[in-house]
Amino acid sequence: MINVVMFGPPGAGKGTQAKLLSEKFGFVYVATGDMFRNHIKNETPLGKLAQFYIDKGDLVPDEVTVNMIKEEITKNPEASGIIFDGFPRTIVQAEVLDELLKDNNQKIDAVFALEVPEEVLIQRILNRGKTSGRKDDTDPRTIKRRLEKYHTATEPLKKYYDEKQVLHSIDGLQSIDEIHRLISEIIEHIQNGDGR
Ligand code: AMP
Repeated sequence: MINVVMFGPPGAGKGTQAKLLSEKFGFVYVATGDMFRNHIKNETPLGKLAQFYIDKGDLVPDEVTVNMIKEEITKNPEASGIIFDGFPRTIVQAEVLDELLKDNNQKIDAVFALEVPEEVLIQRILNRGKTSGRKDDTDPRTIKRRLEKYHTATEPLKKYYDEKQVLHSIDGLQSIDEIHRLISEIIEHIQNGDGR
């Protein structure tokens, strides 16, 4: 069982890469943003709560996010791996995730950090907003807030995972195929037991 995190700011291409990897390796795909949007669509109490934060470009509180994801992790004991997209986004979330995995004799095996300059991110998000139907992809103020939150709350995770020697920094301006190839190669090394 391999656990992989797709890491990076909004618009970096985490979802695109995570979906390709989940198809290629048969990993379970866990995206907290999608989970929240499903709750919002189904008008659940959790959805109403999450929407309040998402519409402002803020992070949903750790406690809410962690409770939602706990079930997902234990739900798939037979999976060859899990790929996390958009989770963890804070140190607290990462620590809880480590604990949960440890309880099952597992760990995070690789974190792929997609590096993309801010002006490109904004353009990508605005482009996605033309078709995604996501309010948080169209309002420039919300986008700015999401990027700020990334820098203050999420980016410190790079150091956290680097210290655990699982961080792989990837130039996110390369083509989708090239990024997919690079990441796949690293995962294959890990599966063969011969790579960081
Ligand atoms: P995403 O689809 O990953 O861009 O997430 C959309 C929004 O959902 C984010 O801007 C946050 O408001 C919320 N969200 C998604 N994942 C998390 C998380 N791990 N922790 C807190 N909030 C999250």
